Amino acid sequence: TDAHIEACTAGKKLNAFITDTHDLAREQAKASDARRAKGEVGKLEGAPLGIKDLFCTDGVKTCAGSKILGDFTPPYESSVTANMKADGMVMLGKLNLDEFAMGSSNETSAYGPVINPWKVGGRKGEDLVPGGSSGGSAAAVAADMCLGATATDTGGSIRQPASFTGTVGIKPTYGRCSRWGTVAFASSLDQAGPIAKTVKDSAILLESMAGYDPKDSTSLDLPVPDWTASCERSVKGMRIGIPKEYTIDGMPPEIQSLWDQGIAWMKDAGAEIVPVSLPHTKYALPAYYIVAPAEASSNLARYDGMRYGLRVEGDDLNDTYDKTRAAGFGAEVQRRIMIGTYVLSAGYYDAYYLQAQKVRTRIAEDFKTAWESCDALLTPTCPSAPFAVGRKVTDPIQMYLNDIFTVTANLAGLPGISVPAALDKDGLPLGLQIIGKALDEDTVFAAASALE
Ligand code: GLN
Repeated sequence: TDAHIEACTAGKKLNAFITDTHDLAREQAKASDARRAKGEVGKLEGAPLGIKDLFCTDGVKTCAGSKILGDFTPPYESSVTANMKADGMVMLGKLNLDEFAMGSSNETSAYGPVINPWKVGGRKGEDLVPGGSSGGSAAAVAADMCLGATATDTGGSIRQPASFTGTVGIKPTYGRCSRWGTVAFASSLDQAGPIAKTVKDSAILLESMAGYDPKDSTSLDLPVPDWTASCERSVKGMRIGIPKEYTIDGMPPEIQSLWDQGIAWMKDAGAEIVPVSLPHTKYALPAYYIVAPAEASSNLARYDGMRYGLRVEGDDLNDTYDKTRAAGFGAEVQRRIMIGTYVLSAGYYDAYYLQAQKVRTRIAEDFKTAWESCDALLTPTCPSAPFAVGRKVTDPIQMYLNDIFTVTANLAGLPGISVPAALDKDGLPLGLQIIGKALDEDTVFAAASALE
C-alpha cells in the first residue's frame, strides 16, 4: 500500500485521481494485515485498488466528474464496491472520468483531463488522452499507481481506455454486476467491470465485483463462475468469428495488421477462424447515440439543485433549475440531454428512438446468427491509437467514431474484453477485442488469454 501511495503521489500530474483516500487506505491495509494474521484471506485481500468516481462510496466524495454533484458524499456504498470491500480491498481513491461517463477521451471531466502515461516513442512528446470514460482507471493502472481499478462501460468506456493504455479491461454480460449505487448514465447499457494489468487479474477482480443483487432489478440471479480457471483453458478447437463489417472505410493499415496478427495468434493456438457477417453493424453507432442520450436525459433529470450537490438560487423554482443545470453540467452533458429529450419528444419519438430500438433488436439478432458458426468474435478494440489531448474534443462526431467497434456489445448486452496486443509505429499501445455470447465470459477469458 505504501509503495502504491508513493506512486500515486509521484504520478499526480496525470490527474488520474479526483479524490485521494490514502489515510483510509492505510487503515484498510492494517485491518487487512490483522485478518491475514488470523488466516482470513479474501479474494482481494490487501490489494491496493482505485475506484472510478461513478461508484458511490460511503463517506467518500462521489461526483461523477461533474460540478453538479458538488461535494456529494453518499451515506451508502455501491453494491460493486461493497463486494470488493468484503473481499478485503484497499481503496486508494476515486478515479477521474468523463463527466457522467460521457466521452471517449476523459476530456469532459469537470476536474480536467487525464493524461495517458504513454508518450510517442516512449519519450517526452505531446500529452495523449488515456481514452474514456474510464480514463482515470486506465491511466492509474498503466502507471502502476494501483493493481487494478473499477470502471464502467456504456458504449466502450472500459475497453477503449484499456486499449489506449496497454491494459486489460472487461465488460461482462449485462446484469452480471449490480448497478445499484453506481451513478446512472444509460441504464439499459451501463455495466461495471475491471481494468487491470493482466487477463487473470481482470478475472479475479470481476469475480469479486459480480454477483446477484436484489437491489438492482436487472441483476442476474446466477452464481459467479471461476473465471480465474477460464484463463487457463486452451482455445484448441474454439471457433473464432471475424466479422467482415468491422473492416471499415479508411481503416488505418496498422489496425488491419493488428487484427491479422491476432488472427495468426489464434490459429497458432489451435483455434479455427471463421468469417462471419453482422449486417446491421453500420447502424450501431447512430442507434447507440440515440438510445444512450435518451436514457441519459431521463437519468439526469434528478439533478435539479434540490436534493443534492450544486444549487444556484434563481428568482423562482424554474429559474433555480435552469441556473443550476446550466452551471452544473458541462457542454457534452448538455449536448446529450438536448439530443435525448429531442429524440424522445412527441413527433420525433417514432422517427428516432423507436427506430433505434428496432436497430438494437436487429443487432442482437445478428450476433445470435453469428453464434451458429462461432464461439466468440475477434476484432480490433478501437479504430486508432491514443490521440493528442485537445485534438478531437471540439468535434463530437470524430469523438463518437472512436466507439465504432465497442458499442455493439453494449447494445446486445454481450461480454467484451480488450487485451493489449501491439504497439503502433510511434510505440503506442493497440488493443484487440474478444466479444462472447451472453453469460459466456468463460470463453472470453480463455480466448483473451491466448492473445496475451
Ligand atoms: N464514449 C461513449 C460515450 O461517450 C461511451 C461511454 C461509456 O461507455 N461510458 O457515450
